[in-house]
Amino acid sequence: MDLDFWWLLVIPVAFALGWMAARYDLKALLSESANLPRSYFRGLNFLLNEQPDKAIDAFIEVAKLDPETVELHFALGNLFRRRGETDRAIRVHQNLLSRADLPASERDHALYELGQDFLKAGLLDRAEETFRALEAGDYALGAQRALLTIYEIEKDWNRSIDTARKLETMGAASLDLEIAQFHCELAQEALQQKKPDEARRQLDLALKANAQNVRATILTGDVEAAAGHHEAALAQWRRVEEQNASYLPLVAEKVMKTYEALGRAEEGVQLLTTWVDRYPTNDVLDVAYRYVENLRGLDAAHALARAQMQKSPNLAGMMRLLEAQQATAEEPRKSELELMRTLIRQRTKNLPRYTCQNCGFRARLFYWQCPGCSGWETYAPRRVEPITASS
Ligand SMILES: [Zn+2]
Repeated sequence: MDLDFWWLLVIPVAFALGWMAARYDLKALLSESANLPRSYFRGLNFLLNEQPDKAIDAFIEVAKLDPETVELHFALGNLFRRRGETDRAIRVHQNLLSRADLPASERDHALYELGQDFLKAGLLDRAEETFRALEAGDYALGAQRALLTIYEIEKDWNRSIDTARKLETMGAASLDLEIAQFHCELAQEALQQKKPDEARRQLDLALKANAQNVRATILTGDVEAAAGHHEAALAQWRRVEEQNASYLPLVAEKVMKTYEALGRAEEGVQLLTTWVDRYPTNDVLDVAYRYVENLRGLDAAHALARAQMQKSPNLAGMMRLLEAQQATAEEPRKSELELMRTLIRQRTKNLPRYTCQNCGFRARLFYWQCPGCSGWETYAPRRVEPITASS
């Protein structure tokens, strides 16, 4: 077999080229760094060694020696803010802004950073005022995003909607998902204040912004239920199945209670067992199990739980099966079953939790906006079992 040796030449040539390029870079770097004070490198060294306190001292010295170094001020300000020393960050950025010779672009940058300092410090009024001053220019989009964050924290949903729309006109990606949620927040407030017409209006707007918004459908059902329109409420909640079946756990209990109120509990159980069959999740099963036990007896409930376990085995399902067996078992089997349940309970110390798919924040309650990362609709509407407490 003939071998082509020509390509072996490529390796030394590439090596030589790389060496020359590196020499050139090094030369350029050396000539640039000759102008920098020694404290700068000391600061850099401390930073690389993860000694931010000493790094800051060194950089402050550079800033004193060479007050022209605007970039260094920004770096220092950000370092302070990241460490939670917001008052120092504010001083650095205010100091920059007080310079008469600061170019307009750097002024916008300093204003933006100052706004971020205020935001981090929780001084929302001052942050808002600062970001509002950035109507145009390179930092306008970032400032609007920060304003949206502020209005969300303040739960000022009308302003949140206006700001999100403004962001879209400025070229940001679609915020329909968030806007629909803001309308849902307003609808929920209206519902609490017993203003059903306003709630309905907001929910229509929510679905107009995002037809996939399940929360608006659930809330429309709540508005109907509050008005005593049980049939209409059921129709809305049942729509969740077509819209996004993974959200059914959020309506299972409401649906069952309403069927009960109408004196048609058996119909409700029928529907719930269909859901358990089609979308096996513990959260729907939990509700179905209780009502099946009440209406059809323990054996029927047991059969439902067993069928579910065969589809997707899990510890919560195992607990339920053991409980059902224990109810009818005799001693000493009864005590053995109790022992097994205790063991499983120890392995799953924490209850199943809702988990944010964005930041991993785990919570007992379901949230439409994650308390950890403030993302909307980042929680899967099903609780997830921790694998084990010991792993
Ligand atoms: Zn999150």
